[in-house]
Amino acid sequence: MSQTVYAPFLNGEFWIDAGPADFTVINPATGQTLGRETECGAAAVARIVEASQQAFLEPSWQKMSAAERGGLLLKLADLVEQQAEALIQTELQDTGKPISQLRTGELPLTAAIIRFYAGAADKVEGSIKSGTPNEILLQIYEPYGVVAGILPWNYPFVNAAMKVAPAVAAGNAIVLKPAQETPLGTLAFAKLCVEAGIPPGIVNVVLGSGSTTGQALIEHPLIKKVSFTGSTSVGQHIQKAAADQMKMVNLECGGKNALIVFADADLDRAAEAALLSGFVNAGQLCVSCSRVLIESSVAAEFEALLVERSKKIVMGDPRNEATLVGPMITRSQYESALSYLIEAADSECEILCGGSKARIAAPCENGFWIEPTILSGVRPGMKVHDEEIFGPVLSCVRFETEKEAVAIANSVIYGLSGSIWTKDGSKALRVARAFDTGICWVNTMLSGYPQISLSPHKLSGTGVELGMEGMLAYLKRKSIVIGIDDDAPIGWGLKR
Ligand code: NAP
Ligand code: MG
Repeated sequence: MSQTVYAPFLNGEFWIDAGPADFTVINPATGQTLGRETECGAAAVARIVEASQQAFLEPSWQKMSAAERGGLLLKLADLVEQQAEALIQTELQDTGKPISQLRTGELPLTAAIIRFYAGAADKVEGSIKSGTPNEILLQIYEPYGVVAGILPWNYPFVNAAMKVAPAVAAGNAIVLKPAQETPLGTLAFAKLCVEAGIPPGIVNVVLGSGSTTGQALIEHPLIKKVSFTGSTSVGQHIQKAAADQMKMVNLECGGKNALIVFADADLDRAAEAALLSGFVNAGQLCVSCSRVLIESSVAAEFEALLVERSKKIVMGDPRNEATLVGPMITRSQYESALSYLIEAADSECEILCGGSKARIAAPCENGFWIEPTILSGVRPGMKVHDEEIFGPVLSCVRFETEKEAVAIANSVIYGLSGSIWTKDGSKALRVARAFDTGICWVNTMLSGYPQISLSPHKLSGTGVELGMEGMLAYLKRKSIVIGIDDDAPIGWGLKR
């Protein structure tokens, strides 16, 4: 039986014979094969990057105004909304995400990010610095040229939008590399870019593994900047690999974030927030707070609340409108999360609920399912406390004082996000300032806005994404000094 072949996207078309199509793409909810994916070797990557460079240099792109680029992005955002149902079906198959999450979360956020950068395109302002009466000092911004966007598998559309929209608004061309396990959403997104009128070649896609295709992409000399979202270990590797050619890198990496519940908090709302944060996207979210730090005096009550409420979480067929939690998106992530649960069962912490693979009815019986799990008695130093599991596992940790809570929150190698629950405004702000993280929510959780920048701390990454600063990250600076007085002294005055 012939199978669907997923091929890289080059100049507005799928390049079917770009390389061997040996990789099997799977629906993680059912375990069923969707098709085979082509792998781009170094030569195919080079051809695609060179085509991107050509598209970047095309006079029609070079002369296009920033406002016009913004107009194309506005069309793209409209298309994302108009074609939302088809995109949702694509993503549902490739990632097994619950349909309600795609419909109310990811697609609207994708459109919002694109629209933000559509509006931002012509808002980049250079500056005039104060110089002398003889000289005018200008500082301007210019696109890098061809940039690489390397994507993880957890939020394919949102991550593609977060890279493509600011890169295109700023006038670059971009080559995307989706995670090998989830190519479908990125390919659909790139096709939509061309439909929106973005010139073919400005958004190209290479396919294949990180070690072969990704590595060839980041090493290509025409790639002037690498924007990476993924794990800390691969991010560190990319930063080192980029050093030889002194490429700009932007790294958005792992997290092991803390949600702190003080005794004076609205425990009901804090519990809702903790469950959403821990279990949305089956815990495969970099900013989710998978550690719940609870003031000891309310810990037993709060943990009981979490367990009680978690029983209402519907897990199962992602096509079901009532489903809240889907599968692990990849087999390797499933196996990795399971290994942490085995580790937890052997440790001193207590499994309050969940703790193993989940049994889901047909047609999902062969998917990568893990039960939403709540652990109690977790302490710093335990693997489930210190390491990013990236699965549906909440680790509850008890604390006595505000100082201790902050110390535990900051004790991990990561610094991505945090959430604070208290009715004491001064305490909330004190703790927010003490959190060594890029973003912090106070009495709320996970709300995402394109206008707010995310700048990871510690080993969660470097650089900035989103917001106006996220667009400036796709531009290089240039200073121009203009002499305006022909009589001004120049050089050593040797002519006299
Ligand atoms: P990953 O294993 O680091 O992979 C991320 C991407 O990098 C994939 O496309 C991967 O390709 C590619 N890659 C691997 N080796 C490479 C190399 N040598 N050169 C170039 N590219 C290479 O991460 P993941 O497992 O997909 O995603 C989960 C991780 O992402 C978690 O740690 C999570 O916290 C993090 N994340 C962070 C953010 C944030 O904003 N901070 C957002 C989402 C996710 P293949 O997979 O195809 O081999
Ligand atoms: Mg898949």
